[in-house]
Amino acid sequence: MKKLKVSAIVLTFVVFLVSSITLYAINKVPSELVHFHANFLIVQDGKVIDFSSPAYMHIEPCGEDVFDPTETLDLHDDNGETVHVHAPHVTWSDLLVYLKLPIKEPDIAMVNGQRLSGLLTRKIYSADRMLAVYGQKVSDIELETWYSKIATDAATYNSGLKGVENCSGAEEDNQLSIIERIRIAFRI
Ligand SMILES: [Zn+2]
Repeated sequence: MKKLKVSAIVLTFVVFLVSSITLYAINKVPSELVHFHANFLIVQDGKVIDFSSPAYMHIEPCGEDVFDPTETLDLHDDNGETVHVHAPHVTWSDLLVYLKLPIKEPDIAMVNGQRLSGLLTRKIYSADRMLAVYGQKVSDIELETWYSKIATDAATYNSGLKGVENCSGAEEDNQLSIIERIRIAFRI
């Protein structure tokens, strides 16, 4: 009888422990892990807007808050030309919101060398290079010049060769199992 009682207590404890660990991991780590980088340049009336000031930076190192579900994207390292994307289905209008710019289609938009319309609803993809020009008519040559000024370090960030520790990652759409979520939550 005594043995049975002890087993029941141990079993209850194990069940409690396993469910606590699982619940903790589910709350802390979303089911989809996203972290990748893209480059952008925004030109207003012939001038590049500088986003490298601390006002635009997320203060915590980017590895610390990857699991915050309210955070979709941010800038780090006083780098105003590289966006760190931390959630699925993030569009370029989300970047404008983050940068506190008016949510307005640019007069000219280019992504990866192609002119396009409907930039605001376009998803940001890993290592994209985006140019948005507002308020000025520009020639094709000027456009080429602006485009060539877009930074190219998103791929370097993706590979982990640049930026703070834990800032690497090129996951656009990475579904995680419960076991993986537990491992990430407990860093094991
Ligand atoms: Zn990052």
